[in-house]
Amino acid sequence: PFQKYFIVIIISIIHLITSTIGKTKPWTNILLPPKLSDRFLDDPESIKLASSDYGNLVQEIPAAIFNPSSINDIVSLIKFSNSSSIPFNIAARGQGHSTCGQAMAGINGVVINMASYRKSKGAGIEVSSIVDSSIGKFYADVGGEQLWIDVLHATLEHGLTPVSWTDYLYLTVGGTLSNAGISGQTFRYGPQISNVYEMDVVTGKGDFVTCSSGKNSELFFAVLGGLGQFGIITRARIGLEPAPKRVKWVRMLYNDFSAFAKDQEYLISNNGRNPSNTLNYLEGLLLMHQGPPDNWRSSFFPLSDHSRIISLLTKHSIIYCLEVVKYYDDHTQNTVNEELKVLFQGLSYIPGLIFEKNVSYLQFLNRVRSGELKLQSQGLWDVPHPWLNLFLPKSCILDFDSSVFKEIILKRNITTGPVLIYPMNRSKWDDKMSVVIPDEDVFYTVAFLHSSGFDDWEAFDIQNREILQFCEIAGIQFKQYLPHYKRQQDWEKHFGKKWRSFKEKKSKFDPRNILSPGQRIFNHNY
Ligand code: FAD
Repeated sequence: PFQKYFIVIIISIIHLITSTIGKTKPWTNILLPPKLSDRFLDDPESIKLASSDYGNLVQEIPAAIFNPSSINDIVSLIKFSNSSSIPFNIAARGQGHSTCGQAMAGINGVVINMASYRKSKGAGIEVSSIVDSSIGKFYADVGGEQLWIDVLHATLEHGLTPVSWTDYLYLTVGGTLSNAGISGQTFRYGPQISNVYEMDVVTGKGDFVTCSSGKNSELFFAVLGGLGQFGIITRARIGLEPAPKRVKWVRMLYNDFSAFAKDQEYLISNNGRNPSNTLNYLEGLLLMHQGPPDNWRSSFFPLSDHSRIISLLTKHSIIYCLEVVKYYDDHTQNTVNEELKVLFQGLSYIPGLIFEKNVSYLQFLNRVRSGELKLQSQGLWDVPHPWLNLFLPKSCILDFDSSVFKEIILKRNITTGPVLIYPMNRSKWDDKMSVVIPDEDVFYTVAFLHSSGFDDWEAFDIQNREILQFCEIAGIQFKQYLPHYKRQQDWEKHFGKKWRSFKEKKSKFDPRNILSPGQRIFNHNY
């Protein structure tokens, strides 16, 4: 009995020490300071989330999951890691909508769960206006953990809206600003990172810094498109404009790629057109014989036209769909049709194959949501997503069509998800930002948004590699968007002439390589 009491006393003492000095979770080897220890989550749901992402191709259980209740908690966590003789890695996880583990922290790292921060913090969007300012009249101060859909709802309440979007809105502000944030508005308004006035950032050293193009500008531009390498965005000031009420949403079909690309480029340029009559959105997508003309990203074509479109697909294998939008409101509702007619003059789509929808601005921006909910209800949202996203110079786009779309894609015949293709203007991107884009005035994004089964995702991976190999051999100066590389020489090549300064900024703002190790830029074997 004496031995039994002795063991109980020893266990109680150990318990007392760990709860007052620090705490070791059963599944973590990180000794946490008391003021942070109760911020850690260990419920199965949080662990599952932090160990996976939308891609469903990589799984890594981190050492711990952190649920900050304030910016100070984030500062303390990063400072704590810095003060350790061997620092631990830290990754902010927005929505985890990356596809290759970019928001993961590795088995010895800590994932900051920005979603639980968002829930515990509550309000995180404040809309304001400034008069007599050079930067624009309206803006919203938005937490980095906030979702774009919530930014949209909050700003619409004031009759205002951000101008640059992603196709899907259930992504965090911090997550898209770490990449670029692109959609059909980008050709005109620039990517989301071109529409930020100011940010609060907690750097990899744990410093809380407010930055803008005029103040701490090195950090500001580093963070925009910086793949989470330099700091955690806790606030972004996003430019706003008066929100339109409705949109005319038009799709036209082409069987000739060069006509399709020529029309896309014409519509995003100002050449010979009235500058006040411009589209607000332009994208394009491939229709292929493998599936019905509509897919989860949006349903569009009237059922009565499906058989006509399918017979065209049987004949041509690929049909190119140009998708454009013009916003309007009460005082432009009578002129919008005329303006579109002028814009469409001379376009070479297949006669008669033009389709139009008239929807609210909110319905249009949130168009992907209904497809998502449908897939979720069928258990098809959480499947593997071996995606490939590219930026391609305009000069190679015809080659890309004939060698990739018409050869690799048709030959392999496995593509099931949407394939998007649309051009953007380089002038709307600031070269000081970390993101890298092709060196031509006009460049295209091509997105292969595959969904696969759990057993056959490798076939898509092989196809992706074949496409990349084609680009390499053809000498195309492409860049990956939402890039994924494992070797440092590939990252060097990806950043090209920006690599040196990217590395210098890393040693300045995150000298111990703590942040976003899942990108595998500076921590290859984490
Ligand atoms: P996460 O995946 O959680 O994180 C991405 C990276 O950012 C990680 O390195 C992470 O550590 C870092 N990070 C996250 N939060 C912060 C923060 N606050 N501060 C600093 N770093 C941070 N992209 C487009 O541009 N256009 C689209 O139209 C588009 N559509 C998409 C549709 C779907 C269905 C999906 C799944 C993705 C889409 N994406 C699109 C890609 C998306 O923008 C990126 O994957 C983005 O990173 C996702 O945001 P997230 O909040 O999930 O970030």
